[in-house]
Amino acid sequence: MSDLLEEVPYFRGDPDPEWNLTEMAAELRPDLEHPVEIRLSGTCPNCSHDVTFDHPLLVRPDVLQRRPSLGDAELAALGELARRFGLSRHSGEEDVEVLCGCEEKHAGAPEGVWGCGASWYTYVTWEAPA
Ligand SMILES: [Zn+2]
Ligand SMILES: [Zn+2]
Repeated sequence: MSDLLEEVPYFRGDPDPEWNLTEMAAELRPDLEHPVEIRLSGTCPNCSHDVTFDHPLLVRPDVLQRRPSLGDAELAALGELARRFGLSRHSGEEDVEVLCGCEEKHAGAPEGVWGCGASWYTYVTWEAPA
């Protein structure tokens, strides 16, 4: 039997509202006190592949599309910049639109596009210890 997961075609259309119930693990990077980005990990509700999604906090998400992810040293440097310029966010909340960025190539996906085309919303709140 072949792997059924690979047969999910690239999704075009309106996201299923049920996808917004997807459980995602959230990690504030590089740390809770001077976060530069939120890393969300979980399983795509459409294609069932593992998804890691980095949501930048210091710039508008739509102007920063990057792959591969920032390394630890880059993150630490950005965290230091955030601290110096007073951009630190000790607490916050974000309604993050997660795009499936699974490592699989789905049938019908546009050239150079990762993931299955699904997107959903995850609400993240955080507060650094006082
Ligand atoms: Zn996938
Ligand atoms: Zn997917």
